[in-house]
Amino acid sequence: MSENDASQAFLESLPEVKPGERFQFACHPEVKCFNACCADLNLMLTPYDVLRLRQGLARFGQPMSSRDFMTAHAHVGQAPDTGFPALALVMAEGAGKPCPFVRHDGCSVYAHRPGACRTYPIGRASKLGQDGGIVEQFFLVKERHCVGFLEDRHWDLDAWLSDQGLAAYNAWNDRYVRLLARQKKTGRAIDNRRATMVLMALYQLDSFQGFVKDMNLFRRLDVSEERQAAVLADEEAALDFALQWVELVLLGDCEGLRPAP
Ligand code: SF4
Ligand code: SF4
Repeated sequence: MSENDASQAFLESLPEVKPGERFQFACHPEVKCFNACCADLNLMLTPYDVLRLRQGLARFGQPMSSRDFMTAHAHVGQAPDTGFPALALVMAEGAGKPCPFVRHDGCSVYAHRPGACRTYPIGRASKLGQDGGIVEQFFLVKERHCVGFLEDRHWDLDAWLSDQGLAAYNAWNDRYVRLLARQKKTGRAIDNRRATMVLMALYQLDSFQGFVKDMNLFRRLDVSEERQAAVLADEEAALDFALQWVELVLLGDCEGLRPAP
């Protein structure tokens, strides 16, 4: 079972929160369990999580290099069903294995924290529906140590997702889920050479931008000059392109990207 399937199965064992249903929760530095949930986690990172965390760890106006990020913070596994790289955040050594970004006053990368941290104490499961659209479900992750559920603040799902800034995270992550689902549907896993290529394209965008330039990748693709410039200058534009390029290379076609005429 892949990490993705295992997380999905875990979430589906929890109480579901349907649209319109309300839950009671607040988290702030005054709760007695503050920071208790930021330790000993199996925190899987999506490509967009890595992009944002590297921005949150920027030095001198530049995102942390993906090479430094991978060395310091990522454990790279492989999903057995697709062969795709599966990244997890490496917890710090020492008592309780804290998240490397937690400080006494909270999350030091708060504005760039991963989607799963934002969604908590809700869990979001997303999968591809019959019609090709994303089907999402939400679950309440009510852990015993969390006293945030006793706080007098009430939410419905939309208000919570909006408050936590999840629109961009979910949109990017759904594109990744679509790509994984397409690969899974082929019934075969990609080989190690292709897995290395996917790792570079989706998680090491600074290296991917260099690769695109050095290999003159645009020469063989139908990409406007304006988009080419954006891909080389901006990591979100690079991720947008990378998701399509990986789909084209692995699966032979992609709706938004075609070979040059
Ligand atoms: S355990 Fe709950 S209330 Fe405590 S810090 Fe974590 S999310 Fe907040
Ligand atoms: S990234 Fe921030 S919110 Fe997420 S586990 Fe680490 S310290 Fe907590």
